[in-house]
Order: sequence, then C-alpha cells, then structure tokens
Amino acid sequence: MLYSVPDYYNQFSCIADQCEDTCCAGWEIMIDAKTLQKYKEVEGGFGNCLQNSIQFRRGSFKQYNHRCAFLNEDNFCDIYTELGASMLCDTCRKYPRHMEEYDGVRDLSLSLSCPEVARIILSHKERVRFLTKEKKKESEQFEDFDFLLYTKISDARNCIIGTLQNRKLDVNVRAAISFALAHDLQNRINSQEYYTMDRQINRYKTETVVDYMIHKLELYQSKEAERFKIIRKQFSLLFRLEVLRKEWSENAKLAFEQLYKNGWREYIKKRRRFLSYMRKNEELGISYETILEQLYVYFTYTYFSGAVYDENAYGKMKLAVISPLIIQELCQARWQENRSLTFADIVDIAHKYSREIEHSDINLKKMERLFGKKKEFYFEKVLISLLS
Ligand code: SF4
Repeated sequence: MLYSVPDYYNQFSCIADQCEDTCCAGWEIMIDAKTLQKYKEVEGGFGNCLQNSIQFRRGSFKQYNHRCAFLNEDNFCDIYTELGASMLCDTCRKYPRHMEEYDGVRDLSLSLSCPEVARIILSHKERVRFLTKEKKKESEQFEDFDFLLYTKISDARNCIIGTLQNRKLDVNVRAAISFALAHDLQNRINSQEYYTMDRQINRYKTETVVDYMIHKLELYQSKEAERFKIIRKQFSLLFRLEVLRKEWSENAKLAFEQLYKNGWREYIKKRRRFLSYMRKNEELGISYETILEQLYVYFTYTYFSGAVYDENAYGKMKLAVISPLIIQELCQARWQENRSLTFADIVDIAHKYSREIEHSDINLKKMERLFGKKKEFYFEKVLISLLS
C-alpha cells in the first residue's frame, strides 16, 4: 500500500483546552460499530450516562446546544477523561487526520477545519512536499476501480500542484492555468481519450505552453466591473448550502452586505486598497501570496483524485479554486470591518469555511451540482474571478 502525506503532517498535535474552537461542537459525531458495541458494555454510573447520551439508531452522540454531550465546560472530553483514549470512537481518535482511499493508495491529510491545522498549513512558507511511503499491507479490493483513469488523474494532480507552486508567477495566474488544465483534462475524460492525457499533461509542464497560457489569460484581466457581478453570485452560493452553525451563516450574510451593498465602484476601490494592504502586511509573518498558494494546494491535494469515482475532475478543480476565492472575499470583508487583517483572522476565516463546507457531504455534493449548472461557475467566469 502506498501512503502519501504532506510534509507538515506530523507537526500536528491537539492543543485541547487551548483551542479557540473545538471539534466536538457543531458536528454530529458518528460512532463506528466496534466502538458503539464497546459503549454498550460500559458499566456503572458513567456507563449509564454514556448509554443515555448516544442515539444508538443513528450511531451518534447526542448534542446539547450544538455541543457533543461529552464535551465538558472546560472543553475536555469526558469519555477521554473517564475511560481513556482507547475508548474514543474512530472519528474522535483520528480527527483532524483525514484519509482518501484508492486502490492500493491512501492519501493522508490534515483537515483545515481544525484551527491548529489551519495555523500549520497557512504558516508553511516553503512549497509543501508530498512524501510517499510503501507499507506492506493487504490491499482491500476496490471493485470496478478504474486504475488507468486514476493514474492519469494522479499525474494531472502532480502537474497542477507543481503549477500552483511555481512561484515565478502570480498565484492567481497559477490557479487559472491549473483550472485550464483540469478543463482540458475533463474533455478527454468525457470522450474517454485516456491515451492522449499524458501528452496533454506534459504540455502544461513546458515553459512554452505556460507562456502561451499567460498570454491567452490576459483576455480575462482588467474586467473588474464584470468580476464584481460574478464574484457576488459565486459568494451567494454559501446561502444555498446546509448550515452547520448558525453563527457562520449570519457572519457570511454580514460579509456579503459589507462587500457588495454599495455597488461595484465602491467594491473595486476597497478591493484595490485591500490587496495593496495585504501585499505590505508584514505582521502576517508570511506573504499573503504564499497563504493563497497553500489554500489552492490543500484543496487540490485533498479532492482532485476523487474524480476517479465520478469522472468529474473539472468539478473537483472548481472546488479547489472557488474555495480560496471565497476565503479571499471573506478576508476582505473582515479587513473592511476592522481596517486590519491579522494571521489569526485568516486562520479563523479559513477553518470556519472548511468546517461548513468540507464536513458536510450534502454541501460538497450540492456545490459540485451548482458548479455544473450555474453560469457564474462557467469556465470564462471563473477565470475573470481569478484574474481581474
Ligand atoms: S479542533 Fe483541533 S486543536 Fe481543537 S480540540 Fe479539535 S483536534 Fe484539538
């Protein structure tokens, strides 16, 4: 079995009661069957409490005020305190570690939804390297796994991550080139021209094609008024999704008002000021450009290869591009409100976005559906959002 991890993977350790958020609030935590059985067998006072606080039919912990029944006032887990780490369910033991599974391959990552992970990812100054290790482990059989397609998608992902990390180019230009690659790749997936994919991917690695792309993409620059209309619609996607935390949706509405209520001229003026502020913002301790690179790379690494299951590489890349775009808008709104934007603000914004979007299958699926249907997510429109 081949395991892949980002180079910061082992830096994570839970900061428990020091955490400004907690993974036990807001989500319904599902309990694996083995642990559920162990919980049924716990005896005594705590056993009673445990059994009364589980929805056995659903296989999840009950919640009070959107907090797990076992999360105490000090933000400690009562199961951990009373019974020890071995009695935690799989979800609690593994979070924020995340795994995507493919035939013979496991991609491990850390979830941006944990604020400590967000700090690690967004403060990573160097290009993230992905380390692989072969371990002897019996591979589970994946029925109907299209290994040929997986290989092509995996090569394309490597090429896209390489492009996103090409620091000679503006970060949004890198994202636009990557987006174009995914678009071309999708055409080949649709027509099942798998054997032409290598040539196509290799073309995107050459300087001549990159230069040609940069020239072609100039068409989508300097369209700020049009961009205003598009990004406003792209942002309102958030209002069509399942809400996990009420506070998040209220803040998103306030940010929407803050950004767009005074029309395009005001928005453009503020955006220019915001971008100039971020370019000079040394308090971040890292360039804003690098933070954006890490976001694009994070979403690409985590989701792109999943296209082997639904043949929607383009949809996966839309998620990887639109997510950082919306996070950038939320950052601008926070800056407009406070007249400053700290690294802690960006961590706060990014991890909350991730909590709402990445931890709801309903939201991930709904987004992909809307990406395919709504005009504001068409190829040219996304390019204008990235480049203007
Ligand atoms: S969100 Fe992350 S840092 Fe906070 S309690 Fe959970 S795992 Fe620990």
